[in-house]
Amino acid sequence: MKNQFQAIISRYWENTATIPSFVDGEFVTGKGEDIVIHNAHDGSERFRYPDADESIILKANAAAKIAGKAWWAMSAQARGQIMYRIGTKLREVADDLASVECYSSNKPIRDARVEVSKVAEMFEYYAGWADKLHGEVIPVPTSHLNYVKYEPLGTVLQITPWNAPIFTCGWQLAPAIAAGNAVILKPSELTPVSSLLVAAIAHEAGIPKGLINVIAGYGHTAGQFAIQNATIRKVVFVGSPATGKRIAISAAERGIPCVLELGGKSANIVFDDADLDLAVKGAQAAIFSGAGQSCVSGSRLLVQESIYERFCEAVAQAAKNFVIGNPQEESTQIGPIHNAKQYQHVTTMLKSAVNEGATIVDNGLPSVPDNAGYYVNPTVLKGQNQMHCAQEEIFGPVVVAIPFKDEDDAIAIANDSRFGLAGAVWTKDVGRAHRVADQVKAGTFWINSYKTINVASPFGGYGESGYGRSSGLDALREYSEVKSIWVETARTPAANFGYGANL
Ligand code: NAD
Repeated sequence: MKNQFQAIISRYWENTATIPSFVDGEFVTGKGEDIVIHNAHDGSERFRYPDADESIILKANAAAKIAGKAWWAMSAQARGQIMYRIGTKLREVADDLASVECYSSNKPIRDARVEVSKVAEMFEYYAGWADKLHGEVIPVPTSHLNYVKYEPLGTVLQITPWNAPIFTCGWQLAPAIAAGNAVILKPSELTPVSSLLVAAIAHEAGIPKGLINVIAGYGHTAGQFAIQNATIRKVVFVGSPATGKRIAISAAERGIPCVLELGGKSANIVFDDADLDLAVKGAQAAIFSGAGQSCVSGSRLLVQESIYERFCEAVAQAAKNFVIGNPQEESTQIGPIHNAKQYQHVTTMLKSAVNEGATIVDNGLPSVPDNAGYYVNPTVLKGQNQMHCAQEEIFGPVVVAIPFKDEDDAIAIANDSRFGLAGAVWTKDVGRAHRVADQVKAGTFWINSYKTINVASPFGGYGESGYGRSSGLDALREYSEVKSIWVETARTPAANFGYGANL
């Protein structure tokens, strides 16, 4: 795949041995410290490239300012047409993009294909919104016409993680530009390549030069420099809770608001009246797909006491059937843990879970490749909700199964978490399904399903899973300023101009 990767990349930038940034419509190589990316399948070094230096970020900042004005000066229809063209172009090169994402981001090829197609869908969806983000007339009780307009914020900074690089790139870029903004995007230093290509393709489709700038660099250097120095009006962060809080503090020091899309410890609740075959499949998809490296993973499996033992056994046994291996193989369903640091975290969490009394459901021999890659066997732990492993994000293919007595107990356990990103319930009792959905504190909740999402539906967290919303109309609101305009319409205006009604 290396040759194929280089052939694709060489269409975009010359020196395929390095990874540049994309600023003001051009690829520019940084001058900072080396960043090293490894092949998760065997631990070997895959890329080495220099961190983006400050001049790159300053250039992106200046370019975004000019491009943002040019973009907003275009008609809304023209912006929508260009955005739709981005979607079409992404579909034209979808296979290449999936290969690039697989090779450069350690993502199983079949998952990469799904994510690329979702990114095309995001641009198509928001293309439709570009000329429909219209204002409103408010029926105020005075002699005034009052109307509300939505305007772009200006330049926004987006910071994204390694677990879904191209997905989170499209997820945030599309609504941001549909609402008229310019973007500085800093993907994870471990997975910048696919975001660079999306930006280049968007430029080919006709966005103004510099509307989307992608900075290939570290968070603590390039990311922090951008937060502290760029003329940004919002930071949209997708990543870990610890980093999200740090970023929110830095942004607050400049009076810049944030949207935080953080981690979770989502409760997947199975009642004994559920379609158990389906619930087993759902429980597996919830935690093992993507090797558990998904923010919405159903990492707490709450199972009714009467079926607890056999359900845990069924999930563990079924996990043996996964094809686990090299992300580049067509047959691979689950790949390795993305990087060495995360592998260390998952394996440490597993050991500490056993130390604090959780037990691993034995499903026979491990099915992961026996090499130097970052592989972890899909694991079912029997534990309790107060355990560290049930309260902290593991972000690997490890589920903690927790027994519950009845509906109230299930809801109480589900809500006994500082997170609130997602959750699910499996039951045939329709009333109960809706009662549970109503009471679990989570931004996304599924009934007899898991992980279904769509660009049209809002997404975000309760509690320490973050704040603000992505996707759908809500994302456009996040990326807009709201302006209320008052026009006096009376023949004889009362000239007190609101005296006595001070805000
Ligand atoms: P991370 O927090 O380590 O890094 C995310 C991004 O922040 C990267 O681009 C990184 O370079 C940058 N960063 C790091 N330190 C920074 C700093 N001091 N200043 C500015 N930027 C900085 O997260 P990760 O390990 O890449 O991703 C995994 C996490 O992301 C998990 O917790 C997962 O749940 C979460 N996630 C959440 C969602 C969601 O929508 N809620 C989606 C995907 C992933």
